[in-house]
Amino acid sequence: MIEVNELTKRYGAVTAVNGLTFTVRPGRVTGFLGPNGAGKSTTMRMILGLNRPTSGSATIDGHPFDRHKAGLRHAGALLDAGDVHGGRTAAAHLHALARGNGLPRRRVAEVLEEVGLAGVARRRIAGFSLGMRQRLGIAAALLGDPPVLLFDEPVNGLDPEGVRWVRGLFRRLAAEGRTVLVSSHLMSEMENTADHLVVIGRGELIAAQALAAFAARGA
Ligand code: ADP
Ligand code: ADP
Repeated sequence: MIEVNELTKRYGAVTAVNGLTFTVRPGRVTGFLGPNGAGKSTTMRMILGLNRPTSGSATIDGHPFDRHKAGLRHAGALLDAGDVHGGRTAAAHLHALARGNGLPRRRVAEVLEEVGLAGVARRRIAGFSLGMRQRLGIAAALLGDPPVLLFDEPVNGLDPEGVRWVRGLFRRLAAEGRTVLVSSHLMSEMENTADHLVVIGRGELIAAQALAAFAARGA
């Protein structure tokens, strides 16, 4: 479970996140919806301890997330798929992550297979399309087989087949009892993906409820 409590982040005069409070429960896909600039990435980075809140707190399963302690075994994330060292091969990138997190080498082949990149494992990431980078970022998130997963705009750059695949993956991860938070700026992406929605705008909570409740309101 992810608990966000009165979370606020200011960058100088810009308030990126403003008093956000919400809970992300296990066993379902929670969509994190808001227009570009709403504060989704900043919130996810604070949940992962990559960005320090100005005030408030975020916890994963009751504790502030410490990636250097629990690392990929506790929470995996796809944050910025473009932000990978392109000189390495996909396999080398994942092997380095596995080594750094004390994970067995066999996980690399398993996750490459899972995301459909087994055939390009020995190619350099520099030649990868955005869709392939998204798949690689998802592979990194899955590497530690974590109970909590965050995906920031995972659908960007995926082709229609990739979109169907990633939706199925999120549904399966949730069915396994994991906590799954998926951000998007498009409501249409959430309709076939999320059970529950957290909607934000200008860093503030607009609504948090079951997706069916939005459909009933015609939102
Ligand atoms: P989203 O992920 O919903 O598109 P972000 O969390 O990326 O939104 O950004 C929220 C707001 O915070 C935006 O106004 C953005 O420009 C600002 N912001 C994000 N990161 C920084 C930063 N490092 N320095 C200054 N402003 C930032
Ligand atoms: P640093 O040594 O700079 O602190 P890390 O070893 O924490 O970096 O991270 C190395 C790589 O692992 C980066 O590409 C980063 O984006 C990625 N990474 C870190 N934490 C996670 C996570 N929880 N899920 C997925 N990828 C992660």
